[in-house]
Amino acid sequence: MNEIKIFCPGTVSNVACGFDVLGFCLDKVGDEMIIRRTSKKGIYITKIEGYDLPYETEKNVAGVSALALIEDAKPDCGFEIEIYKKIKPGSGIGSSAASAAGSVFGINELLGRPYNKKILTYFAMKGEAIASKCEHADNLAPAIFGGFVLVKSITPLEILQLPTPDDLYVTVIHPQIEIKTAEARAILPKEIPLQKAITQWANLGSLVHALHSNDYDLISKSLHDEIIEPYRSQLIPHFSDVKKAALKAGALGCSISGSGPSIFSLSKGIKTAKDVEVAINNIYKTTGIEFDMFVCKINTEGMKIIS
Ligand code: ADP
Repeated sequence: MNEIKIFCPGTVSNVACGFDVLGFCLDKVGDEMIIRRTSKKGIYITKIEGYDLPYETEKNVAGVSALALIEDAKPDCGFEIEIYKKIKPGSGIGSSAASAAGSVFGINELLGRPYNKKILTYFAMKGEAIASKCEHADNLAPAIFGGFVLVKSITPLEILQLPTPDDLYVTVIHPQIEIKTAEARAILPKEIPLQKAITQWANLGSLVHALHSNDYDLISKSLHDEIIEPYRSQLIPHFSDVKKAALKAGALGCSISGSGPSIFSLSKGIKTAKDVEVAINNIYKTTGIEFDMFVCKINTEGMKIIS
């Protein structure tokens, strides 16, 4: 095999109470990439469609993660990368993670899978780091593994796959404003009150239990963010109106996707997820801010080969 076309899914990270450690993978929403083996050694980004992103290997997250892989694998060939970007960079649903993970996933397939998914996540983190100015894997690991993923530790890298309840759907609104991950990190407090930390880790623990026990009520009771949302929601116009409308329409919970500006809501069943979409749409269409919305299932497969 000399060429592979892959689907690189979008992801929701943080998931309310799981800042920097929890994420899940989106179904059908994502980029495509073509990776091609070349006789000339090195990594070359030869085509980018959809959004204006750097062609220089060292400036594109897909290039940097691929360089980390070939530095270790030392293959007797090089690779060309084509990126068909559908997830807008800076939207908060893992645009950079889709590319950083996609290049290493594709190259690994062409090399006959010498690396497991955890090591691919490790290489992808090198790419993701140039977009967010720090190493984190809460978008990358769900993109590579699929489903809900808990990143227990970065050094050493420890990734735990969590179960995904069957009837869980996500509604996402993406207001067309840009928030850079690096900026959204800069506004966060360096220290947090102990009482808030206690509430947060109780919620994260109970969310993990709820996923294991298929308990939608407990998912709902756990989807609260005491620590990050109060700061970052200030960067997202009409966040509290959106959240109120989503919960009133039956959502289990609603919070910021990644560092925003996208906002996700989780619902039991497609009907409620669509009701939530209508309710949020009614709020946002009066604001004058352009936005996209979609409803989808959780993708339990992660990255996949198209051809
Ligand atoms: P997101 O959460 O949508 O990934 P980030 O702010 O983390 O948003 O990353 C977007 C930044 O990464 C932008 O500055 C973009 O130029 C940069 N970038 C570099 N390569 C890529 C790529 N292949 N795909 C997406 N963003 C990239």
